[in-house]
Amino acid sequence: MTAPGIFWLTRDFRLHDNPALQAAIADGPLLPVFIIDRLTMTQGAASRWRLMRALQSLDATLRQRTGGKGITILRGEADEILPPLMKRLGVRRLHQSDWPTSEMRTLQGRMRAALRPAGAELVLHPGHLLVHPRAIRTGNGGAYRVYSPFARAVRQLGPDRPAADAPRRITACTEPLQGLDPLKLDLAPDLHRGRAALEQFAPPAGEGAALARLDDFLDRASAYPGGRDRPDLDATSGLSDHLAVGEVSPRVVWARAMLKAEVSPEHAAGIGKFLSEVIWRDFSWHLLIEFPQMPVACCRPEWEGFPWRKDAPELIGWQRAETGVALVDAGLRQMWLTGRMHNRLDDVRY
Ligand SMILES: Cc1cc2nc3c(=O)[nH]c(=O)nc-3n(C[C@H](O)[C@H](O)[C@H](O)COP(=O)(O)OP(=O)(O)OC[C@H]3O[C@@H](n4cnc5c(N)ncnc54)[C@H](O)[C@@H]3O)c2cc1C
Repeated sequence: MTAPGIFWLTRDFRLHDNPALQAAIADGPLLPVFIIDRLTMTQGAASRWRLMRALQSLDATLRQRTGGKGITILRGEADEILPPLMKRLGVRRLHQSDWPTSEMRTLQGRMRAALRPAGAELVLHPGHLLVHPRAIRTGNGGAYRVYSPFARAVRQLGPDRPAADAPRRITACTEPLQGLDPLKLDLAPDLHRGRAALEQFAPPAGEGAALARLDDFLDRASAYPGGRDRPDLDATSGLSDHLAVGEVSPRVVWARAMLKAEVSPEHAAGIGKFLSEVIWRDFSWHLLIEFPQMPVACCRPEWEGFPWRKDAPELIGWQRAETGVALVDAGLRQMWLTGRMHNRLDDVRY
């Protein structure tokens, strides 16, 4: 049997511009593996529900391209499951799309240690960001802490070019592996009240929906600068949850947007503004990579003493959309029903 190419799926649930997937395909018959581990389950229930939709959608697309083989879904710890599986199948390289949170870095470290004795390696690939933040440095070689010079540097350097699209036909690994059925999978058994609402109102998931949404938005991008501050209008791209699970590549978003600005100059200003927002996303990742303690500690020590009231009735009221401020409550209801919230509905100025 030819050794398969293993794609360890953690994010980036798409076939287009997915260097990790392409590297796995180049290694041998494709074996995409998703592991339901502790890290997956530490996410909130609604996020896991969204992740499940991304997983099911990519699984269906893969089955079409391979003639019936989808994602192998296993339960356990990735660094305990994958190394013995790779050894059994004679695989030396494990491909993953880089997902640079500190928790993932810890898991990647454990994975490397578990692969080392067999001489196997973990290969990380780009695709989640426009530019790897470590490529963007100040004149002194330090990290940017302010958005504007960071954005200028991204525009100057230019985002990495998208990788070529995945082949329309993919040769899949035929090794029989006992995995979970993606259609019977429930990654969010603890999602109770919100489940019916999300099932009814959440926008379609999957890379097809994401790319269609992108193209639809680009056709009306001229209205973005004026409309993006209006929660009553559908003037923004609505791409945030697709980007979060990697159903659309930010580099493809950039490339398609630039092309659109060139062929339809009336949209160029709107597209320029939109891409500034997409750079904000890279900037947030840049900060997280540079200051990995950010999710749990203030990036400025003098803010540590802020008198947060973590169980205040006002907080509970906000979480339940019961503040009495109609616009704020509408934002929370939007989040409950669709999994998204308009940019301006969590902004105290409105
Ligand atoms: C106080 C505040 C809190 C926010 N918290 C989150 C959050 O927890 N998770 C989240 O994904 N977004 C957050 N955002 C960003 C933004 O509100 C949402 O991503 C946006 O509503 C998504 O809608 P869209 O895709 O239609 O945005 P568009 O206006 O079409 O923007 C395009 C893309 O740019 C990125 N983007 C836009 N605004 C920002 C921003 N302020 N920071 C970083 N990236 C941005 C997103 O990836 C977005 O999909 C927050 C914004 C504010 C002001």
